[in-house]
Amino acid sequence: MNRRHFLQVVGSVAVATQLPWQAFAQTYDDPEAVYDRVRKSPDLRLSLYGGSIAIALDGDFQALDKDRVETWLRRGASAIAAYFGRFPVDQWSLLVTAKDGSRIGPATTWGYPGSVTHLTVGRNVTDDALRDDWVMVHEMTHLALPRVPMRSEWFMEGSATYVEPVARAQRGQIPPREVWRWAVDDMPKGQPRRGDEGLDHTHTWGRTYWGGAMYWLLAEIAIYKHSNGKYRLQDALRAINRASGGNKVLWSVAQVAQAGDAAVKGDALASLYGELKDRPVTIDLDGMLGQLGVSEQDGVIRFDDRAPLAALRRSITTL
Ligand SMILES: [Zn+2]
Repeated sequence: MNRRHFLQVVGSVAVATQLPWQAFAQTYDDPEAVYDRVRKSPDLRLSLYGGSIAIALDGDFQALDKDRVETWLRRGASAIAAYFGRFPVDQWSLLVTAKDGSRIGPATTWGYPGSVTHLTVGRNVTDDALRDDWVMVHEMTHLALPRVPMRSEWFMEGSATYVEPVARAQRGQIPPREVWRWAVDDMPKGQPRRGDEGLDHTHTWGRTYWGGAMYWLLAEIAIYKHSNGKYRLQDALRAINRASGGNKVLWSVAQVAQAGDAAVKGDALASLYGELKDRPVTIDLDGMLGQLGVSEQDGVIRFDDRAPLAALRRSITTL
């Protein structure tokens, strides 16, 4: 008896509906259970941008039907494929579980036993929320790069945090101002605080997501400067994706950095990793954003095209 069949049976037994379902939901913390569920009985198969995608839907999908999930997924895939030049893995298994409410997430992506993601979504989610969603693109970014040892989780979370809005802006799904809005509002959360011992040793939420995102923005600027504008971070990330095949493999950060640096003929990824991993380094964020020609005045994000790195700023959000 597969799980889908079991759930249908449970659904018809009024008294027992909730508890067995919750028990199942817990098994979905296990990537092998999610992978099995999707591979054995997918509700949808899509072939997009070179990736073969299997999707299973669980929970009550009366309101959140298959077509809406497909539209949502296609939109995310078009952003991620534009950024990486293809869908980032050959095969992806996605389990979408409907739950109460209207929120998108939480979601988890694993690299074993294959590239697999479990994403939860409120069955009352609106079409506007699905169109504006960032969670799908964040998880798809995780597919693109190798997994790294847990102490460097910031390296992966930072890449997803940095790439997700950029990819959507490049595809025209959000305006460039929104990309820089998060940099102004949220990146300061990634600065080291008292007692910080560097990114590899300080596993707080702020350092993991926004400290990690700052690393990638610093890399973006270093690559651009070193190559006199010939390369951008996107070139390095595409090369890492091609060399690794995505998140099914576990690499050291040094290996990832080397693959990216080789593609852009520099050492930005490795040297920034060396600088930031073992000690607290406060980044001059205002100075960096100022160089890019980004500032906030009266609550509005403003661009200065005379700033020294204004061309890089425009390039980051251009396909
Ligand atoms: Zn993540």
